Amino acid sequence: MVTPMQTRYNKLGPRLAETLRKHHFEAWYFEETGDALDKLYALVPADHTVSWGGSLSIDNEGVQAALGKKGCTLIDRDKAATPEERVELQRKGLLADTFLGSVNAIAESGEIINIDGFGNRVAAYIYGPKQVVLLVGLNKAAKTLDDAMVRARTIAAPLNMQRFAGQYPDAPCAKTGSCGNCSAPDSICSYITIMRLCRPAGRIKVILVGKDLGL
Ligand code: SF4
Repeated sequence: MVTPMQTRYNKLGPRLAETLRKHHFEAWYFEETGDALDKLYALVPADHTVSWGGSLSIDNEGVQAALGKKGCTLIDRDKAATPEERVELQRKGLLADTFLGSVNAIAESGEIINIDGFGNRVAAYIYGPKQVVLLVGLNKAAKTLDDAMVRARTIAAPLNMQRFAGQYPDAPCAKTGSCGNCSAPDSICSYITIMRLCRPAGRIKVILVGKDLGL
């Protein structure tokens, strides 16, 4: 039986993809994650260097293995032996041919919101890599830009912080699970971006999936 959630996603997804195309993103909707991943693989040429931002929407190991098998050169900051090497790999990622990731929230009006601690992920989304491919579960969708900002700041960010709570135990959201609008030097909410339009047109490709993916 098709669930009410799936029925809603199947109605919302194609409409949201159409709205994103009006904002000059390339965009598609797939009901099934496997079909969405096939699209992702088709978008990345074998001769591309590929890097990615931290994302729980993408099965990183599976995607990396598939793209590596295809012949892509992977820039993986998690392979760094030292913090300094990790920063260098993140800097290299800014000039990858393809940068992969997801989003923290997406408005039905076509804007995409992201929050980043160091800024390397949102920097790559905005400028540098030849193309950016975003895999987005429709659990990230919100009605308006204001609603999307609320989702990103009060749901996605405190949820993401739980992954790092051991590293940043004093952050308000690490202690309480709720955003305290902190200004701590190690806040994961240093950079909050709104991608309103894609320029040049088509550089950012959004693959919407009718499933709950990531945080
Ligand atoms: S408490 Fe600070 S780090 Fe946590 S979600 Fe709010 S602004 Fe971000």
